[in-house]
Amino acid sequence: MPDLIKVAKFGGTSMANYEAMNRCANIVKSDSDKKIIVVSATSGTTNLLTTLIGVKNPDDKHQIMNQIREKHYEICDSLKYKEEAKRRVAQLIDDLEKKVISSKAATSQYSDEVLSFGELISSTIFSYVLRESIGKKVEWLDAREIIQTDHNHGSAEPDIESIEKNAETVILPHLKGSCFVTQGFIGRTKSGVTTTLGRGGSDYSAAVFAEAVNADVLEIWTDVTAVYTSDPRIVKKAKPITEISFNEAAELSVFGAKVLHPATMVPAIRKNIRVYVGSSMEPHLPGTWIMKNTKEKPPIRAISLRKNQTLLTVHSLDMLYRHGFLARLFKVLSNHKISVDLVTTSEVSVSLTLDTNAGTPGKDFLPKSVISELKTFCEVEIEENLSLIALIGNNLHTTSGLSGPVFSTLEGINVRLICHGASSHNLCFLVDQQSAEKVVQKLHERFI
Ligand code: ADP
Ligand code: ASP
Ligand code: MG
Repeated sequence: MPDLIKVAKFGGTSMANYEAMNRCANIVKSDSDKKIIVVSATSGTTNLLTTLIGVKNPDDKHQIMNQIREKHYEICDSLKYKEEAKRRVAQLIDDLEKKVISSKAATSQYSDEVLSFGELISSTIFSYVLRESIGKKVEWLDAREIIQTDHNHGSAEPDIESIEKNAETVILPHLKGSCFVTQGFIGRTKSGVTTTLGRGGSDYSAAVFAEAVNADVLEIWTDVTAVYTSDPRIVKKAKPITEISFNEAAELSVFGAKVLHPATMVPAIRKNIRVYVGSSMEPHLPGTWIMKNTKEKPPIRAISLRKNQTLLTVHSLDMLYRHGFLARLFKVLSNHKISVDLVTTSEVSVSLTLDTNAGTPGKDFLPKSVISELKTFCEVEIEENLSLIALIGNNLHTTSGLSGPVFSTLEGINVRLICHGASSHNLCFLVDQQSAEKVVQKLHERFI
């Protein structure tokens, strides 16, 4: 049988220290089909770099730089070829320091350049860990040679056509007998400027790599043993899911399950690539297979929670018996690149939810200028600190008798907006942030 191509991605906690990296190396070693290894920055490093971008005082900058230097040198100290690895890491950290010390203003381009060092450093160290562990050639690959993106710093969009061409020349001819270690999260524009795909974006990078090389399997190794029926940090009795469909997994991630970046399923669906989610700490435990179709199709498979949602309600008598109002409203939002999630309308008002976590980090997600523009043709009301809860499953739009039990479970909770019927895979609603976790726990207890 010809070799399969598997792309394996290891997240931040899987890269946390030498022991964690070594566990990942053993996972790679156990299966010669794992040929492209995509890694995140070591845990906490992207947060440190984000803080670094925001500080102005040189002493504070030095203090953070030292923290970054020490935590990575400490991992290198456990390597056989520690001096060589340390030299490579020191070079990267010196480059980062020069950039940070000489910076005047934190532009979004500068932010992405700084953030990219997290993955550049971790992948450099992991390539040494892997070389010392497996018997075949390990190539360190700069992901930016492959992942071409647009200019949207902080949440850049990969250009799959160019990426496929790059993979064809840089990766595919060299897959036999070697294994590539590369970075998640980072890319580069056509003109060579570094970009990032957004927080948690390494999953998406790995999926894009998988699509570009026509991989057979995409593996996401993380700190939970599987995709669960709800975030196990919130619902203690959440259960691991053995199999879930692409569509359900896509909805689950879009509606807040951090275990997968929301865009991860898009390349997997395009090329019908099966996705496996497992724990790098307990790789022997069964994980989750995500595939086109599953044998079982329960109406409610999982419950997700997305915090920090804003509800924007616009009201105008102009809507009565007129056309064009919605087009005008969405034009304003689209001109400002504000993406809308849920929408409900009545005769004279429209409510829509906006994800405060989305958009470019550091930029106001709903600028005052947008509100002023909207106020020229309608009244605007904004409610913040809401959470979006989604029931994810199958045929939810045609399952009768579902909403009664769901909403009776929510007795005493003020449900602000409900969306049911647009998707066969979700039923979602907004509640205030304070009661959200309790609501998820109650629903899980009742339905799963
Ligand atoms: P990594 O660093 O490996 O990318 P993340 O922290 O991004 O890992 O994602 C894993 C986390 O996702 C888990 O620790 C868990 O708290 C959270 N999570 C949220 N929803 C779910 C879910 N339905 N199933 C599993 N994990 C979930
Ligand atoms: N290192 C990046 C982050 O922490 C990307 C990732 O881990 O997926 O968001
Ligand atoms: Mg993640």
